[in-house]
Amino acid sequence: MYQLDLTGKRALVMGVTNQRSLAWALAQPLAAAGATIAYSYQGDRLRPTLEKLTEDQPGATLHACDVTDDAQLDALFGDLERDHGHLDFVVHALAYAPPATFAAPFVETGRDDWKLAMDVSAYSLVAVANRARRLMQGGGSMVTLTYLAAERVVPHYNMMGVAKAALEASVRYLAYDLGPQGVRVNAISAGPVRTIAARSIAGFGDMYSEAGRQSMLRRNITAEEVGGLGLSLLVPELGGGVTGETVYVDAGFHAIGMFLPQAGSDEG
Ligand code: NAP
Repeated sequence: MYQLDLTGKRALVMGVTNQRSLAWALAQPLAAAGATIAYSYQGDRLRPTLEKLTEDQPGATLHACDVTDDAQLDALFGDLERDHGHLDFVVHALAYAPPATFAAPFVETGRDDWKLAMDVSAYSLVAVANRARRLMQGGGSMVTLTYLAAERVVPHYNMMGVAKAALEASVRYLAYDLGPQGVRVNAISAGPVRTIAARSIAGFGDMYSEAGRQSMLRRNITAEEVGGLGLSLLVPELGGGVTGETVYVDAGFHAIGMFLPQAGSDEG
């Protein structure tokens, strides 16, 4: 049986708010295989939760970093260089759009809301990749999180869908730039999972139940399934040939072109 040993490997995981965060699900298999993880979080209010969550992870470090602030990004990567010297993996699992953008029609998106959503949810990956590559001289791998609303209209997702489209395009350009250095960049397109960010989206309850009812597997995905896909994309022994890609973990939902009434349903 194949044994994965990530002892001596260093990871940066961005975007853990609590144990339901997809960033946390992505960190679990890395930590279990022996990787040492640096966690970055937006604000000081999250630190006590992170201290508790990571108390059993040897060598885990915590770093405040609001990704809209270049000085905080520079400080984060300065800390990583000082503490670890190199970096093997980056998990970018963060996004933000103002609540009004989910509630109002997309056509009413304001300029400042557009800029903020793009800054946090798309540009931050570019800003992180540009700093991380300097610590990845021996190669490395990055994953980010996206959603089907980047490609198709998903009601309510609005500005975040546009930001995810920019994020997915950025993944391809970053993968092209960093490929010669042996650094891979991929996006995981996850089906709905009940997290804090997801619950703040107007109509998320309906999106969640419809995705579970209509997917090929007739169920929702789990955060652990996102973590498993992340591990396989990050680790070169498993996903070494994959870069510039958006990979789905959504129980097959994205590949269905038409939804027919299901057996036992009253529809139609
Ligand atoms: P989550 O636990 O709420 O994580 C979102 C994270 O983004 C939080 O840690 C949040 O910090 C952080 N963040 C927001 N603005 C930031 C900033 N300026 N600087 C640094 N961090 C910032 O929710 P999640 O669902 O796991 O989200 C992780 C990623 O998965 C997001 O990209 C999301 O779009 C994507 N995704 C989620 C789903 C889903 O259904 N849950 C599906 C597909 C893709 P604060 O808590 O401090 O705001």
